[in-house]
Amino acid sequence: MSNKEKCMKAAIYPGSFDPITNGHLSIIRRGREIFDQVIVAVAINSEKEGLFTIAERIAMVNEVVGDMEGVSVDTFEGLLVDYVQKNNHNVILRGLRALSDFEYEFQLALMNRKLAGDVQSVFLMTDYKWFYVSSTIIKEAARLGGNISGLVPPTVEKRLAEKYHGATG
Ligand code: ADP
Repeated sequence: MSNKEKCMKAAIYPGSFDPITNGHLSIIRRGREIFDQVIVAVAINSEKEGLFTIAERIAMVNEVVGDMEGVSVDTFEGLLVDYVQKNNHNVILRGLRALSDFEYEFQLALMNRKLAGDVQSVFLMTDYKWFYVSSTIIKEAARLGGNISGLVPPTVEKRLAEKYHGATG
């Protein structure tokens, strides 16, 4: 890789994004302050059935990051490091919330390094505002009729209401 190419740096931000939250969005925005391009990579995992289909998750990410320069959306299936390398990238971006995230992310990063030594994992600490926000807890709150406004983008709030309560407004 030439020095010039190194200047145009892209980071792959992988995850389930079921659905995208303001915590994810914060990592994307801040990732863009470091990298020229952030590619949100929605994982297709046949073992892990989500609430939203992959198409719905991509649509939501697109609706939210659509006008952000240098941010794009893609999907991948199988090993993340294979996807990263096949596309000639070498940075994985992840977000960290609590200690529980750390343990899992540490394990994942070491496994990925074992599988592909030239792929680096980069971590950004969450903003305190999103410390407790996860897709899982958002879904739980939305399912039970809790107010999740301000924690997810409005389009996600609407789609969650449609999924759980059949609301269309
Ligand atoms: P996965 O199923 O791979 O953990 P997620 O969509 O839950 O996928 O998360 C993708 C990445 O975003 C992970 O690195 C996760 O730690 C991070 N993340 C999720 N929610 C937040 C948040 N509120 N603040 C910072 N990072 C977050």
